[in-house]
Amino acid sequence: MKENNLLQTTLKSKFSLTGLGAFTGKKVTINCYPAKADEGIVFKTEKGKVRADWRNVRESKRHYHTTELALNGSSVTTTEHILSAFYGMGVDNVLIEIDKGFSLPIFDASARFVAQKIKNTGVKHLDTPRRIFTVKEPLIYRQKESFIFLVPGKDFRVHAMIDFPNIIGIQRYSVNLEKTENYLKEISFARTFFSKPIKKESWENYRREFKILSDDYADSDIIVYDEKKFISKLRFKNEPVRHKILDFLGDFALSGRRIKGEIILYKPSHALNREVAKAVGKLID
Ligand SMILES: [Zn+2]
Repeated sequence: MKENNLLQTTLKSKFSLTGLGAFTGKKVTINCYPAKADEGIVFKTEKGKVRADWRNVRESKRHYHTTELALNGSSVTTTEHILSAFYGMGVDNVLIEIDKGFSLPIFDASARFVAQKIKNTGVKHLDTPRRIFTVKEPLIYRQKESFIFLVPGKDFRVHAMIDFPNIIGIQRYSVNLEKTENYLKEISFARTFFSKPIKKESWENYRREFKILSDDYADSDIIVYDEKKFISKLRFKNEPVRHKILDFLGDFALSGRRIKGEIILYKPSHALNREVAKAVGKLID
């Protein structure tokens, strides 16, 4: 059965989750509350509110692999996995309150805990139509070797391809995201991946930065690999390319639009994802 994808949505009730903040390693709790139509996804920190919107993206040189948002002195970092869960599970409006600090919990570097909570809590429709961008002609975005294409289509589908000169190699995956169940089962579990640095000190730095608590790579919360093999146990054979789709959705949520059409990602990066979110957000403003 097709879901009603024309009306805006919010959560049926509040839910909370606790985890360790990325980059801080400190325990942090998020309380997610239902919100009204057109409020969008808003983070509330001790210093104020910041809406998940392309206008509030703060370019961060240090953490180029994550997305940060800032407004009037309040900021949140590593927003992409949580935003991905809300976007993928079809939630348009929610207030996410962070009990302390600026760093959202990283959980297992996937979106599965948030996505599962959304599923268990339930999503309800509001009376206001969604802001939908219908792709009428192909649009192409490019940064260096990364490309993103938007093409017309009946459903919201995402196709992705990555090509790494290491054990990850070429991977591809396509998913119909019109059904939130597909996001929950096929995308939300996919974790971030990194190569195991050759030098011990660099691995130590990395661990400190990402607050990876276990010494055991096989048990680590992310996908770790060296030149010859994956050290962590994979959840899917092509988990890395699925994570790229997860990341894209989290960044694309900043456009404030749903999409009617298909998206093709070739070696996507956060920077290009955000550029596309901005371009689509601007197209109909
Ligand atoms: Zn990610």
